[in-house]
Amino acid sequence: MALMGDILQLVHEDAAAKGLNKIEKVELIVGEIANAMPDALRMAFEIFREQNPQLFTNKAALIIQLEEAIAECVLCGETYKPDQKIALCPNCNVPSGKVLTGETFQVLSYEGSFEK
Ligand SMILES: [Zn+2]
Repeated sequence: MALMGDILQLVHEDAAAKGLNKIEKVELIVGEIANAMPDALRMAFEIFREQNPQLFTNKAALIIQLEEAIAECVLCGETYKPDQKIALCPNCNVPSGKVLTGETFQVLSYEGSFEK
């Protein structure tokens, strides 16, 4: 999964700009309908870490916060949990939902350290 590699590369560059050369912890926020599976992300993190051991501390960890998906129907105002991005309102039965949350995919925070 190239996405994870891109994220970790960016985190590492940001850390390097602060004088840190090792990543200790990366915390992501991932929406339930963001098309990013937490298990796949964890696996990609492990692979990237094995391939780039110089970028991480030994105990480097990935933490994933799941963001609940919520959609609001633009017709009736009902809020509900969408299965997908085109959200079908359970009240009107038309795909009139506007997704409010659940599509986020970003780095929430990270921690780094400096090791020789
Ligand atoms: Zn509706």
